[in-house]
Amino acid sequence: MNNQQRNPSVAVIGAGMSGILMAIKLREAGITDISILEKADKVGGTWRENTYPGVACDVPAHMYTYSFKGNSHWSHRFALGDEIQSYFEGVASENGLAGKIRFNESLDQCHFRGGQWHLTTSKGAQLVVDFVVAATGILHHPAYPDIKGLDSFNGEMWHTAQWNHDVDLRGKRVGVIGTGSTACQVISEISKLDCDLTVFQRTPQWLISVPDKHYSEQDKTALKGKQRKLAALSRRYAFIMRNTFSKAVTGGKLQHALISWAAKRNLRKSVRDPELRAKLTPDYSVGCKRLIISSTFYDAIQRDNVYLETMAIQSIAEQGIVTVDGAAKELDVIILATGFSPFNFMRPMDLRGRNGVSIDETWAKKAQAYRSLCIPGFPNFFLMLGPNSPIGNYSVIAMSEVQSAYILKLIELWKQGELPAVEATQEAKESYNAYLRAGMSKTAWVGGCQSWYLDGDGDPAMWPYSWDQWVKEHQTPVLDDFVHEAPAELEPLRPAA
Ligand code: NAP
Repeated sequence: MNNQQRNPSVAVIGAGMSGILMAIKLREAGITDISILEKADKVGGTWRENTYPGVACDVPAHMYTYSFKGNSHWSHRFALGDEIQSYFEGVASENGLAGKIRFNESLDQCHFRGGQWHLTTSKGAQLVVDFVVAATGILHHPAYPDIKGLDSFNGEMWHTAQWNHDVDLRGKRVGVIGTGSTACQVISEISKLDCDLTVFQRTPQWLISVPDKHYSEQDKTALKGKQRKLAALSRRYAFIMRNTFSKAVTGGKLQHALISWAAKRNLRKSVRDPELRAKLTPDYSVGCKRLIISSTFYDAIQRDNVYLETMAIQSIAEQGIVTVDGAAKELDVIILATGFSPFNFMRPMDLRGRNGVSIDETWAKKAQAYRSLCIPGFPNFFLMLGPNSPIGNYSVIAMSEVQSAYILKLIELWKQGELPAVEATQEAKESYNAYLRAGMSKTAWVGGCQSWYLDGDGDPAMWPYSWDQWVKEHQTPVLDDFVHEAPAELEPLRPAA
């Protein structure tokens, strides 16, 4: 069947970094029937949600942009959250998307019937579309710690992704649970306040210090309107990140040795007190948990008003936190820097593919996809930044650009009539995931630690190969990996427009 004449209708779910990108790329490809649903009242995804003090991106800002839109306004090498939020708002607005997005409207139901997707939104609207792209992000479901008595605390408590800006921390006794990337940024910032800060660390982390260059007005002017210069800067940073951090965690022995040396030296040089240094020294390989880029955390943890508690938490009580040695730390505020549940993806959406099979049933054992974005049984449904898409310490924007181009190639195959529907076969998914598993043993993520990279079976849900390999494998869709017979259910397709 040839769909050449058809202008497919596409629903993009989410107007964060990858949703904005997908909408722009769909339009560039001449696809105009696009509905964009966004649960919140503005674009930005993670950068809209995370407003905690110190929020910044630890990927250099000049490579944390779309390849088609460099930005001369960054104030620092590691851009602050509000600047990144403004960048995405600016790109959405310049591309005329802001007026097209259905804000405050999330997707509740998404069912595949009769060859199309039937959507019901939180406002009760019904849409019928050919394709759905879930650009719903990875780290957006706050993970609350499973600590006894969590709800019994009488003071103020919040997760870092839901920062309570009404509470002034000055003069307060504050406890932060967690020492991940988020916690390190929060602690660096709030430790400067006149507060009494206790950091509850369960597992120490390896940190690399990269100086955070400040861009002067002169620096910014030199780059203003110079897209080629900005693109060159972006490529330079990307080259460095790929050949240092990313290689270090995916089997590059020399890079791993260098990064390990740098992390250990950083700790040795930054923390003079041997007792504190011992508390901060991990017992697992560097890069096993996500490497933290911070030039401020070690200074922060050594401030006079900051105390590092390494005794495990037993419970949370009305007055504060009780550790397993029975000691109670009285607190006014508890901040949960406890990360996210990364395996929910587009859920809790009621997503059902062919024959009414739900995503919960499909992923009951494991969240897996073909090339991170196609799920057998869910034709014409794509998941951006799905299972195994994260690339260690690299820009998710670059990954999404490769994915969006690949999705467009698949839609084009559908338009050409090469595929009756874009649905990866079960075999292709299995073999792709076997290929991923085969690459994991040489990565740093199996270095004997717990992290959000690991799924319930302890398998890293990451891309274990190089960036070049990622790009290469998304160049040309392998037709044999897709279903070629149109199941009865795929009929009838809408008549040609
Ligand atoms: P995370 O890396 O998952 O860290 C969660 C922290 O909470 C860990 O220290 C963990 O300890 C602790 N924790 C969780 N449950 C606990 C419990 N029951 N008791 C005690 N401690 C508990 O989360 P995150 O810091 O929010 O970072 C998540 C990811 O977001 C990062 O890896 C990164 O990819 C991204 N991020 C990026 C940036 C950036 O600059 N680009 C900034 C922030 C976040 P254990 O280690 O013992 O589990």
